[in-house]
Amino acid sequence: MRTRIVAGNWKMNTLPSEGVVLAKEINQYFKSKDKDAKIIICPPYTHLYEIANQIDQDNVELGAQNCSYEKSGAYTGEISADMLKNLGVKWVIIGHSERRSYYNESDEILFEKVQRVFESELNPIFCCGEVLEQRNNKNHFKVVKTQLENVVFKLNESELKKMIIAYEPVWAIGTGITASPGQAQEMHAFIRKTIAEKFGNNIAESIPLLYGGSCKPNNAKELFGQDDVDGGLIGGASLKANDFIEIVKA
Ligand code: PEP
Repeated sequence: MRTRIVAGNWKMNTLPSEGVVLAKEINQYFKSKDKDAKIIICPPYTHLYEIANQIDQDNVELGAQNCSYEKSGAYTGEISADMLKNLGVKWVIIGHSERRSYYNESDEILFEKVQRVFESELNPIFCCGEVLEQRNNKNHFKVVKTQLENVVFKLNESELKKMIIAYEPVWAIGTGITASPGQAQEMHAFIRKTIAEKFGNNIAESIPLLYGGSCKPNNAKELFGQDDVDGGLIGGASLKANDFIEIVKA
């Protein structure tokens, strides 16, 4: 059985004081409950210190949304993986489509970031996914395979065992349009097959593959019911404690 995981990507939302309230609500709800899923929340950098002190990470784990590809030094405004580790962060989202498109993060940069994440003994949540035009041109499998080849294929087996891969079709992110369960399953099966061809079945079968893109309480159950969908990376719906809790319950 693969680990079930629901991760919340808060993006640049909530003030630190609001974020602490949200994190505490989620932590409190799951505190004394048996749950089948690992829960991760990824607030903005400014919230991490306080939230790390307010939640129990055996219950809800803490992730960041990004980190620098440099280890340390004169890089004004950057945040290193070591700094995140020191705060008690466990996960780092790498390769979100918003970083790829708005901040021109290339596969080369993303590979460097993943290296820094592992060097700091953190775990990456690596995102991949196609834009609508690529899907319409039937290039979506090729695009995702290239994203995996340029980053994931360069890692070793022990690194693979520490990571999560999130398939996030860009056309579904924040748009209210969700990939159909069939479309999600088709791509997840393709990703697993692609990993199996490179690293073997054992690794491919163990790696958690999350779906991301307008996942909500009303569609989570069907998406998560697909054989190769092991949970979700949730954007907008992770900002409301009740919605996020319902998605975890799904
Ligand atoms: C995301 O940005 O990771 C995401 C899945 O966003 P949303 O759920 O809002 O589509």
